[in-house]
Amino acid sequence: MKSKAVRKKIAAIVTAALKVKYPVAQCALEYDEPYQLMIAGRLSAQCTDARVNTVTPVLFERYTTLQSLADADIADVEEIIRPCGLFHTKAQSIIGMCRVLYYELDGVIPDSIDELIKLPGIGRKTANLIMGDIHRKPAIVCDTHCIRITNRLGLTDTKDPAVCEKQLREIIVPEESSDLCHRIVYFGREVCTARKPDCEHCPLRAALAAEYGKHSCIL
Ligand code: SF4
Repeated sequence: MKSKAVRKKIAAIVTAALKVKYPVAQCALEYDEPYQLMIAGRLSAQCTDARVNTVTPVLFERYTTLQSLADADIADVEEIIRPCGLFHTKAQSIIGMCRVLYYELDGVIPDSIDELIKLPGIGRKTANLIMGDIHRKPAIVCDTHCIRITNRLGLTDTKDPAVCEKQLREIIVPEESSDLCHRIVYFGREVCTARKPDCEHCPLRAALAAEYGKHSCIL
């Protein structure tokens, strides 16, 4: 892998170029209340954000409060979230998470990754999402787009989300990290897709070539 100094510089160029391409950085998961983002994050495991966004309105219309979800009937929740897959374990952890949040934490969402991942069903990806979008703190959401694109750019050299997150924390400006991850999702859907990246029209390649003379990703 390139030196940390070089990776830091590339990360800064990528951050600036994606900010120009996507001025507004928003979470792809839709929610109104912070606890709803935690649930959407749990549902997004091995499921597309688009599908989660079709299921959560139904779930949150039927269960309108954190308490109602904490006391929910698991079979009913399973039925609603079935389109997201893994519905049995997801329903168990969603209800379990809401119980801890409501009955043990008075509805207060923890503001550290170490505390968040103690909650049922919350992994590092959702914990980082909460840190960035709810608490507005530095966060690296290592999803499939983030891993693929940062590997291609030579910023990381692993498919392991936890290691990838650690490698990115070393080189991304903390205040930029959460928004950058949202922008990487847009970019991964539109340009640097898994199967057919559009390198010819890629703003990152242009920005990096302007700095280094040429740039080739690792495909
Ligand atoms: S040059 Fe190609 S592989 Fe590299 S970031 Fe752009 S689209 Fe992705």
